[in-house]
Order: sequence, then structure tokens, then C-alpha cells
Amino acid sequence: MYWSEEIETIGRKELEKLQLRRLRTSLRRAASSRFYRELFQNAAIKPEEIRSLKDLTRLPFTTKADLRHSYPGGMLAVDPEKVVRIHASSGTTGQSTVVYHTAHDLDGWTDLVTRCLVMAGCTPRDIFQNMMSYGLFTGGLGLHYGAERLGMMVIPVGGGNTDRQIQFFRDFGTTVIHITPSYALHLNDVIKDMGLSHRDFKLRLLIFGAEPYSEATRAKIVEAYRVDTYNCYGLSEMNGPGVAFECGASDGMHVWEDNYIVEVIDPESGESLPPGKIGEVVLTTLNREAMPLIRYRTRDLAFLYEDTSCPCGRNFRRLSRIVGRADDMLIVRGVNVFPSQVEQVLMKLPEVGTNYQLLLDRVENLDRMTVRVEISGRMFHGEVGELRALRKKIQHELKEQILLTTEVELMEPGALPPSRGKAKRVIDNREI
Ligand code: AMP
Ligand code: ZN
Repeated sequence: MYWSEEIETIGRKELEKLQLRRLRTSLRRAASSRFYRELFQNAAIKPEEIRSLKDLTRLPFTTKADLRHSYPGGMLAVDPEKVVRIHASSGTTGQSTVVYHTAHDLDGWTDLVTRCLVMAGCTPRDIFQNMMSYGLFTGGLGLHYGAERLGMMVIPVGGGNTDRQIQFFRDFGTTVIHITPSYALHLNDVIKDMGLSHRDFKLRLLIFGAEPYSEATRAKIVEAYRVDTYNCYGLSEMNGPGVAFECGASDGMHVWEDNYIVEVIDPESGESLPPGKIGEVVLTTLNREAMPLIRYRTRDLAFLYEDTSCPCGRNFRRLSRIVGRADDMLIVRGVNVFPSQVEQVLMKLPEVGTNYQLLLDRVENLDRMTVRVEISGRMFHGEVGELRALRKKIQHELKEQILLTTEVELMEPGALPPSRGKAKRVIDNREI
């Protein structure tokens, strides 16, 4: 089943021609942003010198740091009047990595998501409950519009409020959900506690996204819900969900190469890696007006499949599941967190000492982040009320900045292992 059969079954040769044509347009567009004008100038390269897909590797990479530095408008490549929406990375409070979209961009993104849903076997008869949060994060609105375009009945319930989610399964006969794998595990616990099981629902399909998970987790979820599952990869910089998606063959995710050029590189040397080798995924947008991104380093680690043909009839290259990160970004309950963000919050507080630790575990299948922090010797009077207030304050500040509720454990000065060399700040006990 295809949404756009002609393009989805395009042959490699035709696809590459289309990619080159679109790449050249993208580069021209990019060059009208301040950031890329300067980048191309500094690299002494003109967009029109890129004459083949191979030439792409002559262009410098774009990084998340570039996005931060050019905030808010340095990468905008169109007249601001043409922008109709912005999105941002999950976990940021909006400042650092904003992405602009024109109506054309949103239309293109919606179409990709619709393709994904049709590839998974969704039809207008399905009832789709979107359990990802709405707002700047792309998992909400991204899937939403694709599902509407397909004609499913959409329940835009967002994340959390588990009892109500389950109620809706029953009231509306939900057949498809979009959910993080960790939330799916937790949800199952709640379902069991209520004395219910998969037999009480009409769920038939789970779409997973936003965080890494293992085959073992997938098997557990399939067993509990008796559903098909589909892996959905994306990142806000590249629109959001719908960059790559599994087909019925359940063997890798097709990258929509008419919209993205995918490369896998050695994160150390930046050299291209052959299929089968795990490295950092690098993506170039081919169909975006407001904010084209060229050779964007995702920091996600995965490998490309050698074979481009697939039993489903698509010839788009397949990407493995994401096996890790090339940086220290953590994904906690679907929200991106950098330890440096936590550190920034802590170090602004005079009551806090210099040593801290982040402890991650799963409690009843839900991620929990505990921040252990030494209090400053000078500020320590040992009064319980004072400590409680400090804990609340830290929790509040962290929530404001990283958008996550954390446990905070205050420690006496010197209680945490002192750093010798590279500090080990994160202890991740989660089994994914
Ligand atoms: P955001 O920009 O907030 O949507 O976060 C994007 C990041 O979430 C990606 O760079 C990945 O690290 C992670 N991510 C998204 N989808 C998946 C997936 N299907 N499997 C593993 N990680 C994912
Ligand atoms: Zn396929």
C-alpha cells in the first residue's frame, strides 16, 4: 500500500536525478541565510559548484552548535512573512534549536508522515490516538496532520494522563497509537493493574518514536498488546517524525530520500562509512524552504543497509534502528536532556557545591532521573526546613529549564566520589 505510489516506487537512477536537482535548489536557498552565506564563503565554495551528488562531501557539516549560535534567525532562508510555524527540540525551552517552516514545508512534512502511516497499513477506518505531547515538540503536531490527511479519526490527547488514555481506548475503539516505547511499557502495567488486557481494546498497531529501544523491549510490548509495531525516526531539525520509517518487512527504516540525503560518517574523522558500518547519521534536507539544512550531524548512531531493494517495492535506503548517540545527550521520558543543561542550573545556585551526579533508572517502567547534588559547605546549617526548601527550589529550576520533573537528593559536601580526570556524571541503570 502506497500513499504516493509513483514516488515511493521510484527507481534509484531517477531518484538520484531528483535528489541532485533538489540539492542544487536547496543549496541556492540555503545561501540566502546569513549562516550558510558565511559558511560557504569561509569554505570558499559556491553552491553552483556542486554538480553531482558526490560533490556533496565537499561541503562542510552543520552541527547543533551552529543552530544554537545562529539562534534565533541566522538560518532563516526566506522572508519572515512566509514562515507559518516554528518547532524546537524536545527538552529545550525554545531557545536553542528552533526550526522554521513555510506552508510548503509543513505540507511536505505532512505528506511524508502520511506515507509512513500508509506504509504501516493505516487506513481511514482507523482511530488514531496520538499519545505524544503537543506543542513545540514535533511528535504531537507532526503525526497529527499526517493522520488527518490520511483520513483517520484523530484523538489529539497528547502525553500522560494514563487513566484517560485507557478510557479513550475503550470509548472510541482506538486502533492505532503513537507512543514512546517506555510509555508503552508503563501503560501496560497500568492496564494490568486495572484488571484489563489487550482483549479489552481494539489496538492493532503501535507506532514508536522519540527514543531508542531494544528488540527485547519491542518483543515484550508485542506480547502484551498483541499488535504490530513500527519504528519511526526523526528529529526536529529535519521536521520531526517521518524521516525514516519501517515498512511491513520490519527490517530497517526506509529513509525518504526524495526529501533527505542520508550519509553515515565516522564521528571522529568525518569520513563516509560504507553500508553495514555503524556511524553518525548525517542528513541534508531536499525539500525545505524556510530552513534548509546541509549535512546536518544528528549525533545519532546507526548503519545503512547495503541492499536498496525491499520486498515492499520501495527502493529507498534503509537505516538500522538507532543504536546510540555520539554525544552525551540523554533521552528521559522522550525528552532530550544534556547533562550540561543540568549543570548550568545547579551551578547558578549558591547553595550548591561543585559535585553532582545524574542517576537514571526505571521505576514501574517509567524513566526516573535523580539529581544527586552536594550542597555547599558554607551554606550547610543542617536544618531540615532549609534543606527541604532547597530541594524544592532545585526541582523547580530544573523543571523550568529541562522540562522534566526530577528527584533531587541533597548530599553533604564530599559525599559524592570526587572527579579524577573526566568526571563520570551519569549513571544510567535503565534497561532499554
Ligand atoms: P527531537 O528533536 O526532540 O524530536 O529529538 C530527536 C532525537 O530523538 C533524535 O536525534 C534521536 O536521538 C531520538 N529519536 C527519535 N526517534 C527515534 C527512534 N525511533 N529511535 C531512537 N531514537 C529516536
Ligand atoms: Zn520496505
